[in-house]
Amino acid sequence: MAESNNIGKPILWIVVPCYNEEAVLPVTAPLFEAEVKELVAAGKVSDKSRVLFVNDGSKDKTWEIIEGLARENPVFIGISQSRNRGHQNAVLAGLMEAREVCDVTISIDCDGQDDISAMGKMIDEYLNGAEVVYGVRNKRDTDTFFKRFTAQTFYKLLNSMGAEVVYDHADYRLISSRVLEELTGYEEVNIFLRGLIPLVGFKSATVAYERKERMAGYSHYPLKNMINLALNGITSMSVKPISIIMSIGFITCILGFIGIIWAIIGAVVGNTIAGWASTICLILFIGGVQLLSLGVIGEYVGKTYLESKHRPRYIISNKTWEPYERKYKG
Ligand code: UDP
Ligand code: MG
Repeated sequence: MAESNNIGKPILWIVVPCYNEEAVLPVTAPLFEAEVKELVAAGKVSDKSRVLFVNDGSKDKTWEIIEGLARENPVFIGISQSRNRGHQNAVLAGLMEAREVCDVTISIDCDGQDDISAMGKMIDEYLNGAEVVYGVRNKRDTDTFFKRFTAQTFYKLLNSMGAEVVYDHADYRLISSRVLEELTGYEEVNIFLRGLIPLVGFKSATVAYERKERMAGYSHYPLKNMINLALNGITSMSVKPISIIMSIGFITCILGFIGIIWAIIGAVVGNTIAGWASTICLILFIGGVQLLSLGVIGEYVGKTYLESKHRPRYIISNKTWEPYERKYKG
């Protein structure tokens, strides 16, 4: 396409985190390429648009596949993190890489679950002035009951704790480079993009899409990772659990106090009961509440500790366009 046709068209970078995805990458990469071609042909984006794969320290052949794709087709480029840092940090690394060279990014998982063709509608919203476009699932038929239930509980919990998240929106979203510029001001290491992006603000829109089943490979979000994500989401976005703990503590104190008065009255009246079981239950209950409370507070203290170190959020060890080569000093 002639250079002049691109003037005034936004450069799009599609940011795709990949962790141990050798099975699915060869299936989905051509779909991403086709979508970019279509968007370019429709005159919506510049032909300088790219698909950026972020290898999140995969242990399989993912990086070799990305390098191969980049060699064969200039639309594909890749960066590699020095080790596995998790989905959120992988997306962030890609977005930060893209920020200075493109006008707009779309982050999407590499497993083909999110409908790639919804990108056209996202770009339309962007061209109509939205700086952020959230991809929102229109139904959850393909999910197992368990996944559906845990996901719904997750959103409800997050919102009730005061973390603003868009319902049924995962990490399929368009962000303009203008918003990414502002996102750099949020320096937290424990990053939860779903909660952060709404905080940055700007004009936003939503696009509904159908979420399908993974095309190949396996999910990296078993129950343990879901719980971690939920815990991180809540404790990195809200301090409400601490105030809930304060209230629980206050209520148990009052109950305890009433209990003491009741026991004293009982002793004075001579109406003593052999209440061992109830006593032990109470002690156990209050002990449990205390331990749980300490755990929640510990979670925040731990986060503060980790944040205070200001460690890098990601380390890029390789880029397909400037491969790292060993040079000897001797
Ligand atoms: N992912 C990643 N780092 C990780 C785990 C996952 O970059 O440590 C990527 C993964 O390759 C995929 C996306 O995050 O592109 C979502 O993961 P997955 O599909 O396993 O999660 P699910 O869709 O089952 O929630
Ligand atoms: Mg998936």
